[in-house]
Amino acid sequence: DESIDFELKKNLKEIFGFDNFRGEQEKIIKSIVSGKNTFVIMPTGAGKSLCYQLPATVLEGTAIVISPLIALMKNQVDQLKAFGINAQFLNSTLNKSEMNRVKNDVIAGNCKLLYIAPESLTKEDNLVFLKKATLSFVAVDEAHCISEWGHDFRPEYRKIKEIIENINPDLPIIALTATATPKVQIDIQKSLNMDDSHIFKTSFNRTNLYYEVRPKQNAKKQLIKFLTQHKGKSGIVYCLSRKKVEEIAELLVVNGFKALPYHAGLDSDVRMKNQDAFLKEDCDIVVATIAFGMGIDKPDVRFVVHYDAPKSLEGYYQETGRGGRDGLDGSCLMFYALDDITKLEKFNKDKNVTERDNAKALLMEMVAYSSLGVCRRRQLLSYFGEQMEKNCGFCDNCNKPTKTFKGEEEVVLVLDT
Ligand code: ADP
Ligand code: MG
Repeated sequence: DESIDFELKKNLKEIFGFDNFRGEQEKIIKSIVSGKNTFVIMPTGAGKSLCYQLPATVLEGTAIVISPLIALMKNQVDQLKAFGINAQFLNSTLNKSEMNRVKNDVIAGNCKLLYIAPESLTKEDNLVFLKKATLSFVAVDEAHCISEWGHDFRPEYRKIKEIIENINPDLPIIALTATATPKVQIDIQKSLNMDDSHIFKTSFNRTNLYYEVRPKQNAKKQLIKFLTQHKGKSGIVYCLSRKKVEEIAELLVVNGFKALPYHAGLDSDVRMKNQDAFLKEDCDIVVATIAFGMGIDKPDVRFVVHYDAPKSLEGYYQETGRGGRDGLDGSCLMFYALDDITKLEKFNKDKNVTERDNAKALLMEMVAYSSLGVCRRRQLLSYFGEQMEKNCGFCDNCNKPTKTFKGEEEVVLVLDT
C-alpha cells in the first residue's frame, strides 16, 4: 500500500529523525505492517526497536510490546515520548490510578505502544482490559527470554502465545532477538507458534569491537591499568556477584574514576538513578552484574570489561555488544581464570541434571573461547553458525604479539577503602 509506504518514510524522518532505513529494517517493517508473523534475528545495536516502533505509529490501535525489564521499558518509553509518540508502560512501578490512566489511554485509542512484562500480561484483569482495546500487533522484544537455551530464561514467557490467542488469535507477532544460536531460534519459533513467519537474519559480526582475553593474575591492578588507558570514556565493568560489584565500584571511586554500581540487590530507585547517571554522562563507568544493560541504548560505550568470566558465550556476546553502538571502536576485555569457572560451576550444583548439563556445556564453550589461540571473532561467529573466510585482524589473537601487555608494575593502586 503506497500511502502506508509514504507514511512510514515520513515518520522515519519526521519522528525518528533518520534519513534512511538501515539494513533489513524496511523489509521487516513492511512484513509486520502487512500482518505477517515476523522473526527478526539481528545483533545488538542493529536497530531492532525501530522495526516495531515505526510500524506502531502508522497502524490503527496500540502495539503491545512485551519487554523483560522495567529499566528497559522506561528507557524506550522516555525516548518515544521525547519523539512525541504516545507510549506507556504497565508495570509494578505504577500505582492504581496511574495504571487506570494508562488503560484508559489505550482504550481511547491514544496510545501507540504499550510496554508490558509477560508477568503482567498474564494477569487476569490485564487480559480483560486488553480484550477491550484495539490492538495493532504484538512485539516480543528480547525474545531469547522465551528459550530455556537462552541466557535469561523466564518461564512466564512460555505463556505468551496462549495469552495472545486468547486476546485475539489474528494479531500478528513480531519477535526480535540478538541471540543467534539455532537452538534458541527454533525454541522461540516453536513457543510462539511462528513456523510460518518471515525470518530476517543478518550477520552477527560486530566489526568495530576489539575482542581480548587476558589471564587474570593481579586483577585489580590489571583493571585499573586498562581503565586508566580509557579515562573519561564510557564503559561497563561486569562482575559475577553483587558483592564483587560493590567492591570494584568502590575500588574505582577511590582510584579517581567516576563509577557507580548496578545490581539487582539495589533499590529500584537507586538502580534507575545510576542508570540515568550513566546515560547522562554524570558517571563514566557502571560496575554491574548482568542485571545491567539489556536493551540500554547508549551509543558511545567505548569498553566492556568482564572482570569475571561470563556464564556463556551467548551472554558474553550480548554484553560486549553494548559497546560501540555508534559504529566507532569498542574494546572488549575479559579477564580469565580457571578459578572463576570453578565458581560458576558451583552455582549450578543445585540445578536439576538437564539444567546442569546445559549450563556446563555453555560454560565449556566459554572455556574453549578463552583458552584457544584462534581468532576470537572466528570462534564467536562460528558459535552462532557463521563461518569466516579469513581471520579478523582485530582481536588479541590476531594481533599477537604487538598488543600483548607486559608488566603491571607502573600502576599505583589504592587498595585501602
Ligand atoms: P537493537 O535493539 O537492535 O540492539 P536499537 O534498536 O537499540 O538496537 O538501535 C541501536 C541504535 O541504532 C540506536 O541508537 C538507534 O537510534 C539507531 N538506529 C536505528 N535505526 C536507525 C536508522 N535507520 N538510521 C540510523 N540510526 C538508526
Ligand atoms: Mg533491542
